[in-house]
Amino acid sequence: MKKNQLGDILNFYKDLGVEYLNIKLKKINETQKNVEVELEKLKKAVENCKACELYKTKKRYVFGDGNPYASLMFIGEAPGASEDEQGKPFVGRAGQLLNELLKEIGIARKDVYIANCLKCRPPNNRDPFDYELKACRPFLDRQIELIKPKVIITLGRFALMQILGNDKKITQTRGLVFDKKTYSVIPTYHPAYLLRNPKAIEIFLNDLKTAKHYMGV
Ligand code: URA
Repeated sequence: MKKNQLGDILNFYKDLGVEYLNIKLKKINETQKNVEVELEKLKKAVENCKACELYKTKKRYVFGDGNPYASLMFIGEAPGASEDEQGKPFVGRAGQLLNELLKEIGIARKDVYIANCLKCRPPNNRDPFDYELKACRPFLDRQIELIKPKVIITLGRFALMQILGNDKKITQTRGLVFDKKTYSVIPTYHPAYLLRNPKAIEIFLNDLKTAKHYMGV
């Protein structure tokens, strides 16, 4: 917004007889501006990526989405059909369930950041190949570095293995919190699993509550 536009708006309120406006201004500092610029650069790099074969079969690159200053970051596996169509992570049925469950514990989707291990959809939603995960990994690492989350929730086994190591299994790690240097990791079920196993929703909600605790909210 330009300065004179702001002046017009304030004069408009003055003419209405308003003497005080209770406005909270949030200062965006240089570092914050840089985060957004760097994320944009990274997105461009993803959109030019040909590091594996998936760029040939995908419709759209799915970079990541949400609040660049989020204290909570979710990491999923790879885009599915809806994500591939829309270019955004977790917008299909699993994503809708995730949104509902976030809402249930008082977290708005717009306040979190969501990224996937793979930025392109594997054909027919097959499991990611190891070399694809390796090729895409630098993008995920840079996203984590820029977002600087306090807590990372890994959704499903591929995200878990990427963040905590290939030897890790959901059954052995769920319910635990892993402290990394700058963030805590909470492994949990993939929302697609919850669609097939609604009994696990309660456990997932508990994991979200644990995340809230570690975020300090
Ligand atoms: N499953 C994922 O792992 N990621 C998405 O973005 C959608 C479904």
